[in-house]
Amino acid sequence: MNRREFIKVCRALGLVLPVQPFLSACTNKQGFKNDNTHPVVIIGAGAAGLISGYLLKQQGVSVKILEAASNFGGRMKRTTTFADFPIPLGAEWIHVKPNILSEIVNDDSVNIDVKVEKYNPDIDCALYEGEKISIKQIEMNKESKFVNSTWFDFFEQYIVPSVEKHIIYGAVVEKIDYLADEIKIETSDKVYLALIGFNPTTNDGEKLYYDAAYGQNSNLHILGLFAVGNESLSYLRLTDEERVKYILHELDKIFDGKASAHYVKHIFQNWDIEPHINGAYIRDNEDWTAVKKLGESADGRLFFAGDAYTDGEDWSAVNNAVHSAKRAVQAIMDS
Ligand SMILES: Cc1cc2nc3c(=O)[nH]c(=O)nc-3n(C[C@H](O)[C@H](O)[C@H](O)COP(=O)(O)OP(=O)(O)OC[C@H]3O[C@@H](n4cnc5c(N)ncnc54)[C@H](O)[C@@H]3O)c2cc1C
Repeated sequence: MNRREFIKVCRALGLVLPVQPFLSACTNKQGFKNDNTHPVVIIGAGAAGLISGYLLKQQGVSVKILEAASNFGGRMKRTTTFADFPIPLGAEWIHVKPNILSEIVNDDSVNIDVKVEKYNPDIDCALYEGEKISIKQIEMNKESKFVNSTWFDFFEQYIVPSVEKHIIYGAVVEKIDYLADEIKIETSDKVYLALIGFNPTTNDGEKLYYDAAYGQNSNLHILGLFAVGNESLSYLRLTDEERVKYILHELDKIFDGKASAHYVKHIFQNWDIEPHINGAYIRDNEDWTAVKKLGESADGRLFFAGDAYTDGEDWSAVNNAVHSAKRAVQAIMDS
């Protein structure tokens, strides 16, 4: 693998992320106050929206979260029925140091009982675009995987309880008028006041086969295939049945025909057609300074958070969504 490809892999896996210190307690410098009749309205109950609500609640600010789907989590979706451990269908690895979990919770009194596993840089490997590469080679030894848990489970346990009763599901925001005296958000059926907005992202990337059962205390053998951007097109144009055949054929070439012989079942997640999300994540080779500009607040009344709103070259990960939420919350508290 040449250097360009190596950087591509690292980017695809979010491996060039500097660890950012964040989530020191938000300070309420100018005394932003609200009440239940004028909550801060958050659009989207993905990582960014949930953390925005959680941090605002920690500051005693009342919130309302409008979520288009019928469940929270957005791209942290997971399945609990496929195997004897939860399998992420979106966000999977912790791309930064695991202590980000306690930093997210932002509350020393909470005991965070989450087990994570690291890869063994000397023996573990992955299949990147058909080529066997060592975990060390793509620096995945710096990644952590949840054990019998996922990003979704972590949010469900530690973040969601604080905001759960403020989430309104099936509320598709269609229009925001922030120039009116009272900011108006039009959803499919109601009008709310707004302070934070969210834009879904589009994707670009590559393809990787990996051991989805790694470190999970499970006897099941489950291969994960992560494919985004151009690399996903050959799978997307096929029917489900054709896709399974195509993938098994690919794996048979690598595993001397053993894949077809041992195939049991599969699960498939296409983020391009996921309602209200419509893509995996933003192109990570765009100019981040231009993207940063898009994240500036509109008139100090409408604030933006989400994994695309970066303040550095790293984006498209849960930790980025969380950082952006922290910045939006701080901006609200300072307003
Ligand atoms: C295949 C895949 C693998 C990934 N792997 C990792 C990984 O290993 N590690 C990692 O850290 N990250 C990973 N990510 C990225 C991570 O999932 C995202 O960065 C993060 O979940 C984004 O959170 P968010 O809140 O910014 O956006 P989202 O999760 O997209 O949340 C947005 C929410 O807003 C809602 N919404 C959208 N439009 C409207 C509207 N008009 N009205 C109301 N609600 C609306 C949506 O329904 C959704 O719930 C992966 C993503 C994908 C797709």
